[in-house]
Amino acid sequence: MSKFTFIASVLTSILLQCLEGTFAIAHPRSASAPPPLETNVGEVLYITVSVKGQNRVVVGEFRDRTIPFFKIGETGQYGALIGIDLSDEPAQDEVRVQIQEGSITRLVQRYRVKVRRTQFGIQELTLPQEKVDLDPETLKRVEEEQQQMLENLSSVRGERVWRGPFVMPVEGKVAGTFGLKRLINGQPRNPHSGEDIYAPEGTAVVASNHGLVRLTGDFFFSGKSIVIDHGLGVFTMYFHLSDIFVKEGESVSKGQTIGLVGSTGRVTGPHLHWGARLNGARVNPLSLIKLPLHTLVTGE
Ligand SMILES: [Zn+2]
Repeated sequence: MSKFTFIASVLTSILLQCLEGTFAIAHPRSASAPPPLETNVGEVLYITVSVKGQNRVVVGEFRDRTIPFFKIGETGQYGALIGIDLSDEPAQDEVRVQIQEGSITRLVQRYRVKVRRTQFGIQELTLPQEKVDLDPETLKRVEEEQQQMLENLSSVRGERVWRGPFVMPVEGKVAGTFGLKRLINGQPRNPHSGEDIYAPEGTAVVASNHGLVRLTGDFFFSGKSIVIDHGLGVFTMYFHLSDIFVKEGESVSKGQTIGLVGSTGRVTGPHLHWGARLNGARVNPLSLIKLPLHTLVTGE
């Protein structure tokens, strides 16, 4: 395994960029004039909608994604989190909010959403080629693990388990590495789809919100890993752990210690790689922290 482990003395050039995000909350007054919303590639948009009637099934459509809405009070208010994938086009589009009544679907609201470009930096790594080219056996393992991860991330539970604001999973230094385009020996690789938080080996890692442990394992790239399913297509991921304290299928609470910071998998040193998915979109997990979800603590 160590043959394929990245060495610490690689030539690394990281262009960090500002990760400040913006979020828009819409409280539309009429169906005819919804305000335009703005967000950035790789971030999360929180929208709300008022719907007449009790216990409606409210669903949004944005690009090729289906966005489930959740009830946020007794007054016909529904909310949804929309993830803008880090590879999404920076363009204006529409969210169509619909009510489902049996086989009938009725459009209740449209939002124009302007997705702004995010200038992600570039990370260049120069490595001995034998550290980059995986042997067939390892390549097979990596492909199987990626498939397993994708299957777990694409199964959506219809019930919201997360409650109130998301919290930071570990105390440490945020590296600002989300979205970095990566070049290894000049060859483009997958962009960095999570955020790295540097903390000493053995630092406690907590669940960012309530959820169900969807997957645990020891993977080639991500090392000892946990995936938490927060319901309605929201997942958070915790990679490179030294220890895992939870089992698949177990319910976890926000703030519960689920593992320890480590340096397992293909890493150069101890840190937590924290990832988030929203209905398939790879988003900056820090976007979840910044969402104005405090009002959801009550009235649920
Ligand atoms: Zn990472």
